[in-house]
Amino acid sequence: MSTVVIVGAGQAGSELAVALRQTGFGDRIVVVGAERHLPYQRPPLSKAFLRGTVEPDGLRTRALDAYTNAGIEIELDTAAIGIDRQRRSVTLADGRELRYAKLALTTGGSPRPLRFGSDHVAGRTLHHLDDAVSLRHELQSGGAILIVGGGFIGLETAAAATDMGIAVTLLEAQPRVLARACSPAVSAFVEREHRSHGVDLRTGTSVRSVARRDGAHFAELSDNTVVRADLILAGVGIAPNDTLAATAGLAVDDGVLVDAVARTEDPDIVAAGDCTRQWHGFLGRSVRLESVQNATDQARIAARTLCGKPTERFTAPWFWSDQYDHKLQMAGVPQAGDTAVVRGDPSSNSFAVVYLRNGVITGLHAVNRPRDFAAGRQLVTARAAITRAEASLEDLPLSELMKRHQPTVERRV
Ligand SMILES: Cc1cc2nc3c(=O)[nH]c(=O)nc-3n(C[C@H](O)[C@H](O)[C@H](O)COP(=O)(O)OP(=O)(O)OC[C@H]3O[C@@H](n4cnc5c(N)ncnc54)[C@H](O)[C@@H]3O)c2cc1C
Repeated sequence: MSTVVIVGAGQAGSELAVALRQTGFGDRIVVVGAERHLPYQRPPLSKAFLRGTVEPDGLRTRALDAYTNAGIEIELDTAAIGIDRQRRSVTLADGRELRYAKLALTTGGSPRPLRFGSDHVAGRTLHHLDDAVSLRHELQSGGAILIVGGGFIGLETAAAATDMGIAVTLLEAQPRVLARACSPAVSAFVEREHRSHGVDLRTGTSVRSVARRDGAHFAELSDNTVVRADLILAGVGIAPNDTLAATAGLAVDDGVLVDAVARTEDPDIVAAGDCTRQWHGFLGRSVRLESVQNATDQARIAARTLCGKPTERFTAPWFWSDQYDHKLQMAGVPQAGDTAVVRGDPSSNSFAVVYLRNGVITGLHAVNRPRDFAAGRQLVTARAAITRAEASLEDLPLSELMKRHQPTVERRV
């Protein structure tokens, strides 16, 4: 019997195991997870879970039965600590060894630590369910929180904490929040909303040092002020968990290097999700993506590759974020130099930004515009030719433009 071992029981690992069965793999599948929880969805951790409207059971990607019924073995609370590619075996932290015919790495990422000058500060992070459980508990006891980082996780946590009546200070070192991910129009909207909800949001501001007195933190900031906080949360991004792969001699470069069908340089090892840097068929370049859509799509691709049916996908990456009552949805990965055309009036709380390059749509960021997003996502995947006027014309639904274009989504390789 041949065994597929999947290291990492998260979004990609869970999807890969099930997709293997769906693609016809009939032998043994073992998923190894360092956490003690069944695979769960992380997005609600900074949204509904902090607010207390969903509990851990509601986060699972699948119920235990779904794995048992599919004959998928799950080893939880057990990290893989070594891979011997010659012997085709994985060593677990408890000393056991698992032999594999094929191996999949879905180890995700780890939050980057806060760093002030040369000092490391053990600021809290929000990445795992256990982080969210203790953060929620602390937020429920009141106080003030200092959030370092104006990316999605920092901003979503700020929104949840504010809704819970917590005083929030949020710092972003760049001149605007979401500077890497969004256009200035979307950043300005997000900043305005947070400030109107009472967040003390400071851009272009970082932490110089933190002192601890009387059970509280006192952060000295680059704007020469001192902020007192009961809690400091770092939302400064993640680093891919690629050390296991690197130690086994696989090529890594800020992520396990994989091709467009999730293959590493070892024909018996695939990788998927946040831990990878992939050649992306649609974008035509090497990227590291951190999203549920990427983790699940790439996991399904990896499953097909392991079953000898490698299939490349050509869909535009997409991502979402919920803050207060607002839904932000983003498709494509616009580049510096793309023209941003605003569609609708940002002050109306419902608008979109269409990105164009040489007359072709490269991305769409929608704020409370699910219809524009649904059509825009397809237009981006179809690399549709669109004029500036069409992009900005509110009377012309983007779905109308879609009728002119049919995207190519898959190709067997
Ligand atoms: C708070 C938060 C909010 C988010 N919100 C959104 C959102 O709104 N939209 C969106 O698209 N994405 C969101 N994301 C990102 C999304 O959740 C990730 O991109 C996705 O979970 C990646 O899946 P993955 O399987 O690659 O990694 P993970 O889901 O992180 O799973 C990796 C698993 O591997 C385990 N592991 C690591 N090393 C080992 C080892 N050596 N042995 C065994 N197990 C190991 C880890 O413990 C982990 O359980 C959010 C992420 C966070 C943290």
